[in-house]
Amino acid sequence: MSLPRNTKAKQAVLDEINRSTYALSQPELFERVKGTCDRVTVYRILDRLVAENKIHRIVNVDGTLNYAACNQCDTHNTHAHDHLHFSCLECKKIECLSEQSVHVQLPSHYQIKELFLTISGICPTCQGG
Ligand SMILES: [Zn+2]
Ligand SMILES: [Zn+2]
Ligand SMILES: [Zn+2]
Repeated sequence: MSLPRNTKAKQAVLDEINRSTYALSQPELFERVKGTCDRVTVYRILDRLVAENKIHRIVNVDGTLNYAACNQCDTHNTHAHDHLHFSCLECKKIECLSEQSVHVQLPSHYQIKELFLTISGICPTCQGG
C-alpha cells in the first residue's frame, strides 16, 4: 500500500514535531523532511496540522513561528491549552512548559482562537545543568 505523496510528507512533518522535545521552526522542519516535499508543501502541511488540532503555533521573541505537538487537542476538537512557552536566549530553543498554565479571562463576546505566551530567558541546559 503506497500513501499519496502529500500524506507521506504530512506524516513525516508530524513525526518530527512529535519526536522533538522543543518546538521547531519552519526552516528547521524543512531541513528534517527535505526530500519528502518542498518548502511550500511544508508550510501548507503545518497550516493543516494546526487546523486539525494536532500541533500548535508559538511565536518566538524574534517573531518567528515555531510548531509544537498538541496533547489531545484533536480529541477535544480545539486548542484547549493555555500553557507557557520558554524561549532560551542562548540555544534559541523554545519549549512548552505544559504544567505552567495561565488562566485568561476575556471580556464577554471575545472568542479566543490562539494564545501566545512566551517567556525568554536561559534554559537549564544552557545554565550548565
Ligand atoms: Zn493544541
Ligand atoms: Zn538553552
Ligand atoms: Zn506549547
